[in-house]
Amino acid sequence: MKRKIIINTLGCKVNQYESASFLCAFKESGCRLAKEGEDADIVVINTCAVTAKAGAQSRQTIRKLMRRHPDARVVITGCYAQLSANELAEMVDGSVCIVGNGNKHFLVEAALEVNPCDLTMLMSKILNKKEICHLPMRQFGERTRAYLRVQDGCENFCTYCIVPFTRGPSRSVPIDKMLDQVVRFHEAGHREIVVTGIHVGLYGKDLNEGYDISSLMNTLCKAQPEIRFRLSSIEPLEISDTLIDTMKSCDNFMPHFHIPLQSGDDTILNRMHRGYDRETFLNIIRKCKKNIPHAAIGIDVLTGFPGEGKKEFANTRNLLEEIEASYFHVFPYSKRPGTPAASYANQVPGNVSQQRVAELRALGARSKLSFHTKFLKTERPVLVEHSRTVDNQLSGFTDNYIPVVFSGDDELMGQIIPVYLDRIHKDLVQGKTVGK
Ligand code: SF4
Repeated sequence: MKRKIIINTLGCKVNQYESASFLCAFKESGCRLAKEGEDADIVVINTCAVTAKAGAQSRQTIRKLMRRHPDARVVITGCYAQLSANELAEMVDGSVCIVGNGNKHFLVEAALEVNPCDLTMLMSKILNKKEICHLPMRQFGERTRAYLRVQDGCENFCTYCIVPFTRGPSRSVPIDKMLDQVVRFHEAGHREIVVTGIHVGLYGKDLNEGYDISSLMNTLCKAQPEIRFRLSSIEPLEISDTLIDTMKSCDNFMPHFHIPLQSGDDTILNRMHRGYDRETFLNIIRKCKKNIPHAAIGIDVLTGFPGEGKKEFANTRNLLEEIEASYFHVFPYSKRPGTPAASYANQVPGNVSQQRVAELRALGARSKLSFHTKFLKTERPVLVEHSRTVDNQLSGFTDNYIPVVFSGDDELMGQIIPVYLDRIHKDLVQGKTVGK
């Protein structure tokens, strides 16, 4: 009988990629996903530790799934497992395996072991890792869109971030393996690939292949012209002229930059160890907009970093007003034990930080609306999603990341079609398939 598995994934796109590869490997070994309410034989929890809250959620999820599936073999991996393996070993009971981030390629084999010990720990010194775990897959779930993990790790050591300690130094996937993986995604029917990593701008620096993020994107786009490629997130200083030229010259490299700003105040940026100042950031945005005026520009911002007073926050707000981004992702700073910023003076009270989040999110909503409005009464290519909205419409994203809903037949699902962006209704862009 097929063994039944559950995979619970917290955190980022890289975790999602890795979990999708576990699922493929489990299926190839004769397992299947447990149905709703069914007892699982194997439970995998891919944890996150990016904030203290994410760590607490990871612990909660582990406890809940262990209670719900008392006879299952439980496998815990991800950033929380990497950071707190010993604490977890004390907390858990039953047949448990803890797999560090550097050993994820052994996870499925360890989970399937026939006579496992009560507690197996597959940990390694992540800071010494020189190679990325090889985690290929045939298909990325059932989705139209697949994530492609091209790189792992980060060496920036921003003062609020624990990730360099959970993921180790930057390691890249060799180009031949990337090309094999995109062929597999193409065969599986994925029409869009989101190139992702912990710090993708460092792609290739650890390899001797002569590739960087620009030449990687160029190579992937040329190798699979029928697939749209989108870059998930890129640090501002890594948006080179070559990257912009590549985006301009490859029709299937989507015009979309997602850029972490974090703060618009120079003192705070310096305390965060971000490596750029406000003026440099602004010039990079100007360069992107000048070269690709229709590009989506998404911005990540943190509010309430230690030392952020009214003046510093106002600097962030007025920079965001000036940038006129397509959307913002705003989060309150949360103290991460083990990072330098956790012990900085002048921590900002939670309610002040939340109030600033609300203010920036409101600004973000206006900015988004104005970006969407700019493209009304024009046509843009849309990749149609495989599921319908609650009111039974088709939906999809334009090349420049505008979500749009429209009427149409099921056969359009999974296709890239021109859609006329007609109007905005209840904050949603309502489109029409061209010719209808
Ligand atoms: S660049 Fe900074 S914020 Fe991003 S993963 Fe590296 S250390 Fe963390």
